[in-house]
Amino acid sequence: MRPADSAQSTAEHILHGVRAAPGTAWGRAAVLQQHVRPDARPIAVGRREHELGRARAALEAAATDLERLAADLRAHDRSAEADIVETGALMAEDPSLAAAITALVMSSGRGASTAVVEACEEFASRLEQLPDPTLALRAEDVRSLGRRAVAHLEGRSGRATEGILIAESLGPADIAELGAGVLGAALARGGVTAHAAIVARSLGLPMVVGLGPEVLEVRDGEELVLDGDRGLVVRRPAGDRVDAVRAAAEARAGARALAVARRAQPATTRDGRGVTVLANAASVAEAREAVEQGAEGVGLLRTELLFLDAAAWPVMAQHSRFLEPILAALEGRPATVRLLDFGGDKTPPFLRGTHDRGVELLLRAPQALADQLAAIAAIGAHRVRILIPMVSSVEQVRAVRTALSRVAAGASSPPVGAMIETREAVANAQAIARECDFFSIGTNDLTQQLLNIDRERAIAAPVTDPRVLASIDTAMRAARAAGIPVDVCGEAASDHDTMPLMVGLGADELSVAAARVGEVRELVRGLDFGECARTVGALLG
Ligand code: PEP
Ligand code: MG
Repeated sequence: MRPADSAQSTAEHILHGVRAAPGTAWGRAAVLQQHVRPDARPIAVGRREHELGRARAALEAAATDLERLAADLRAHDRSAEADIVETGALMAEDPSLAAAITALVMSSGRGASTAVVEACEEFASRLEQLPDPTLALRAEDVRSLGRRAVAHLEGRSGRATEGILIAESLGPADIAELGAGVLGAALARGGVTAHAAIVARSLGLPMVVGLGPEVLEVRDGEELVLDGDRGLVVRRPAGDRVDAVRAAAEARAGARALAVARRAQPATTRDGRGVTVLANAASVAEAREAVEQGAEGVGLLRTELLFLDAAAWPVMAQHSRFLEPILAALEGRPATVRLLDFGGDKTPPFLRGTHDRGVELLLRAPQALADQLAAIAAIGAHRVRILIPMVSSVEQVRAVRTALSRVAAGASSPPVGAMIETREAVANAQAIARECDFFSIGTNDLTQQLLNIDRERAIAAPVTDPRVLASIDTAMRAARAAGIPVDVCGEAASDHDTMPLMVGLGADELSVAAARVGEVRELVRGLDFGECARTVGALLG
């Protein structure tokens, strides 16, 4: 080998993607979806029967995996996720899939892995082209099934339990069984990962998406660095890069251990202002992490994420099955349950084509609203608060209250609050505050709306822009005048630079990603409220 070749083979190789969840990780690749190279030539006729047997057995084994996972989820009261995972298992029984595999092996001489991949891809593409959007979404389930079958053929488990996950995309089954040893994820595609990315962020797992098919050439067990802050995957990482990532990981682990050790201490500024630190969550895993890190409850329970593939509005039983295990994981702490915030990038198949978002959509589906309110109210007014998304007018708050009084039927209703995350909500803040028990400021949408930036693409959300700060200030003043508490639940509540400004403006509660609860509590203890108020006052001019 020439020296140049050997130098090239040991040099770092950097793959560029899109940042989906921050943080860095160093570890071994856990390839969920290996790049299957097409067979060079057809396999001998005499071996085809044997290959077909292997392909069928692998598909069955993959289906059994999914059924086992679904049963496990059900046993842990996670029925809604179990239903989704089970649909993937049912795909294995589809006769057209079996027929395609048989034809590919017996007639075209494909090997078992190639036949499974090609048949699943063909089936998935056909599903994607169907006019029924719900069936079209099942395409991802078929690919996930094929991926697991190939893992069986190659003697890998195909389970997302440890290391840096490498996959084309992550389906609901993969997310549901993320093991404690998972360090992060690198995905070839970027489109369908919104749910995965939010869960990754909340669990503190770095994630890079949109890396392209090249990432699927990474070998199982290969050493990698994943940089979720810069959107990179580094193959054959240099020693100094690994050292930096390891040092950062150790610092994070140390900070978390410290936060856990101090979780019983109140989050009070040096000059004595108490701040309630709550967690944003959408899953049981996040609720558990929040409690571990000392959260006083959940300040934003995103209820729509589990239903992004839904074929219809969820009914009361589905809401209850989602809520109960999360409330159980909170061990008596309260949760602020946000009503379904469908629309925008969170539009399920049955609402495709709609331009509305949040409460506006819900008010046009009174039965759906009643079902969700009934499920929340049944938990008990002492354990939950109801949060209304994308409020723009006081009439919307009144309409939700009317619907709530109907379903609560005499029992005491949970407190009701409005998300302040639209221009109109800020303009109508005083009237809205008089009808609410609390406010929750959604700095993500608010910043995007006020500054006209694309929330999905923006690298930074400039909450420090005086227009944004002034709107938050307006909302806080309206809340104070009405005597109600204010929560801040957007990313600005946990960002090192903006969190002190939110405290300075008078936030009573901060609701932050579960993985950051301990860190934010620690940061609050280092603040001086008077100084925060002066800093933000100067920025407001
Ligand atoms: C927000 O907009 O700031 C917010 C917390 O809501 P979501 O991110 O769920 O839209
Ligand atoms: Mg929002």
